[in-house]
Amino acid sequence: MAIEIAEFIKPYRVTKGGKFRLKDIHPHDTGGIESELKQEAKDLLQQAIGQLSELQEKLYAQDHWAVLLVFQAMDAAGKDSTIKHVLSGVNPQGCEVYSFKSPSDEDLDHDFLWRTSRRVPERGRIGIFNRSYYEEVLVVRAHPDLLLRQRIPRRLITKDIWHERFEDINNFERYLARNGVVVRKFFLHVSKEEQKRRFLSRLDEPEKNWKFSLADARERQYWNDYMEAYEDMIRRTSSRQAPWFVVPADNKWFTRLVVSAAIIDALQRLDLAFPKIDARRREELAAARAALTGEKRRKR
Ligand code: ATP
Ligand code: MG
Repeated sequence: MAIEIAEFIKPYRVTKGGKFRLKDIHPHDTGGIESELKQEAKDLLQQAIGQLSELQEKLYAQDHWAVLLVFQAMDAAGKDSTIKHVLSGVNPQGCEVYSFKSPSDEDLDHDFLWRTSRRVPERGRIGIFNRSYYEEVLVVRAHPDLLLRQRIPRRLITKDIWHERFEDINNFERYLARNGVVVRKFFLHVSKEEQKRRFLSRLDEPEKNWKFSLADARERQYWNDYMEAYEDMIRRTSSRQAPWFVVPADNKWFTRLVVSAAIIDALQRLDLAFPKIDARRREELAAARAALTGEKRRKR
């Protein structure tokens, strides 16, 4: 089985969100790959992981571009395991993962982009945000009381606040793009039924017990609020330079394939190459080689 990457990811990429509807992308979709071909899809993922590792080496050596991968999802959609699998072949020195949990007091003492903007990857690196500034238009929107805890002056909290945040996020991402930071955003789209199945298996299987959280299960009652917030977010913050990928997440093998293909696509669009060696540098290298071999002879 071979896939044409650009075609494969196209149905899930949103660059113009205006008319986007969440219901058009089904969490159980497997892009026409039958479940009998699951093994081949897994082999394909292995190839993709290898390809990613080669591209990342060039990204690092060239040291011009940076890549920021943002992951958002409901609990148990598979953010952690997708990150683990897709980036398993990448040199850990060229890659940084940040998980953004509930904000600390220090975080709340700053503007809403503060804690994440400090973690934007440096040139040559891949940065991964496991949750991100998008929580500010998701969990905070589903629970507006969180806004009040942010200590924003009251007169600045108006009905326009979500619209303003979208605008700020779009400006921030445009700014990053203009500075050579390539942004790709992934919403792992799991169904409510599949989330229930995964929660139940966290309860039933002792080695998964530690993953179960009562708070996560309670959050299910806000499911529709979250879906509305996700849909609006995708509509308002999709752009050519920072597209959203709405990735079906009921089948983990498929999620991983789409995410890895989207990252490869992003890297292939860059003019990645190992730095060229000029004549002067070549002479330096030749001299270093002569010195090293001479050293060997002297020792003998
Ligand atoms: P895991 O459960 O796999 O460890 P997680 O990302 O779910 O990973 P948790 O500590 O369970 O980590 O949850 C983090 C919580 O922090 C989430 O409920 C998330 O909505 C919340 N959170 C993240 N960013 C913000 C924010 N800016 N404001 C309020 N809550 C936030
Ligand atoms: Mg959690």
